[in-house]
Amino acid sequence: MPAPRFDQLHRQSGPFFVALGGAGMFGANLYLYGSGGQWIGIDCGVALESTASGDNRVSVPSLSALSKHDIQLSALLITHGHEDHIGAIPFLWRELGCPLYVSPFTAQLIRGRLAPNLDWPPLHEIRPLQAIGLGNFQAEWIPVTHSIPESHGILLQVAGKRLYHSGDWKLDAQPLVGELTAEGRLRAIGREGVDVLIGDSTNAPNTGASRSEAAVQDGLSDAIRSCHGRVIVSCFASNLARLHSLADIAMDTGRYAGLLGRSLLRMHSHGRAHGYLRSRPGFIGAWELGFLPREQQLWVCTGSQGEPAAALGRLASGSHPQLTLEAGDSVLFSSRLIPGNELPLERIRQQLQGQGVHIIDDDMAPIHASGHPPQEDLRQLYDWLRPRYLLPVHGELYHQQAHMDFARRLGIGGLIPSNGELIDLSAQPCRIAELPWALCAVDRNG
Ligand SMILES: [Zn+2]
Ligand SMILES: [Zn+2]
Repeated sequence: MPAPRFDQLHRQSGPFFVALGGAGMFGANLYLYGSGGQWIGIDCGVALESTASGDNRVSVPSLSALSKHDIQLSALLITHGHEDHIGAIPFLWRELGCPLYVSPFTAQLIRGRLAPNLDWPPLHEIRPLQAIGLGNFQAEWIPVTHSIPESHGILLQVAGKRLYHSGDWKLDAQPLVGELTAEGRLRAIGREGVDVLIGDSTNAPNTGASRSEAAVQDGLSDAIRSCHGRVIVSCFASNLARLHSLADIAMDTGRYAGLLGRSLLRMHSHGRAHGYLRSRPGFIGAWELGFLPREQQLWVCTGSQGEPAAALGRLASGSHPQLTLEAGDSVLFSSRLIPGNELPLERIRQQLQGQGVHIIDDDMAPIHASGHPPQEDLRQLYDWLRPRYLLPVHGELYHQQAHMDFARRLGIGGLIPSNGELIDLSAQPCRIAELPWALCAVDRNG
């Protein structure tokens, strides 16, 4: 594939698309759109890999394509607040040198990540369903359900084309926390026409429809009711709906709930500040909870991926300063295992079982739901939007392939993008050139 010509990057109206991360892989999502020499980005996330020693290595997309071809982004648009979409901002915002457009809750998560004593990039807070003009582009954030509040697809109108960048999404009629998917607006967008949909492939190999957060709440409630000693639930800190459910379930099952782990405490305070966690008694302090009888304790903790230094890892190894488990306690894994973390998690499970702790996971009871669309969700969204073409992203080649195959059965054309490929969207999408692409390992604390 040739290198791009100057006029393609700096003159022609395109529009053009290139992924600098997130295509053919999970994580490091960074997608660029260009037209008439103007470029904008969507999302800027990290990729996590677990190394043989059990540590997580954090990587961010390289921006060498921008410097090499003299591309200056005029805006970075953010879909939602997960690390694979915002986690690279603290490392790259100076180099990107452009303002960010982001919803209020996600803006707070980003601000929480930036060093307080340094200059910050300009953060413009967007309002969903209100299109804004960004030079050659018009952008509109469309609320969708996912596994963190304020998740959005973004409709881009540029060079006479209408592009729908899905972000991460699922269909959930009862998300418990946050907005519903803006079905009416999506149907209207479909009637107006969508040329290309750039979409989430994570669960495209899976048949069926998404499990709702309301069903997870029922599953957790049943599972917790059957437990006798302490209950410990590990889940992703950013899943505020899950926190909301667990606070309610504690109340309904005669328990008090508390949080263990810094990221949970931080997310909980951001969630409350934005009005997303208003469950009845909420959470009590770890100190108070530890003094209550075992059968009244419900702990929510970090470490669902087997991180040895997170709360669950320390409980398993008996080294947590605030809590020691005993035989007859129960640990519920209300989470999905991210591939690559099998070994450290297995170690934790063995340590827990060695202490006589019961383990309940998603295979044994419906206590987790993915935030990404399986095939029936894809069918429904594509029925609303009726895109002509698809570029499957946010997944490894296997997931992209399954997504493309499924879309073709719905009569949608397209191609599978790889990172660095410059794709012309002015007609049927086609690869025209290749930009340099790489991941750079970073020091998470530096
Ligand atoms: Zn996400
Ligand atoms: Zn994601």
